Amino acid sequence: MCISIHQIHQRVDAKSYYQRELAGAIGQHTGKGWYKTTALCPFHADKSPGTFYINVQTGKYKCFSCGTCGDFIDFHQHKYRSNLPQTLQSMWRAYA
Ligand SMILES: [Zn+2]
Repeated sequence: MCISIHQIHQRVDAKSYYQRELAGAIGQHTGKGWYKTTALCPFHADKSPGTFYINVQTGKYKCFSCGTCGDFIDFHQHKYRSNLPQTLQSMWRAYA
């Protein structure tokens, strides 16, 4: 079965996705769906939390320390080092 990005966006709630994947709280709302988290950025050797932001409306993330950004599908791909079809399959199954 081929899963589309659109199907993932319909099935997976961005906030619960990040709550499950990030070791840290989704903290203060900073406007327009953006939250400042207390999570360490998984994409650089982060030692001080406070620069990793997520957007629960669009699913996007941004680290202001290393500059990495994207949506939660990019996040999953980078974190688990999988290609896009594998990523879509595993997210589809995890959030059934
Ligand atoms: Zn970072």
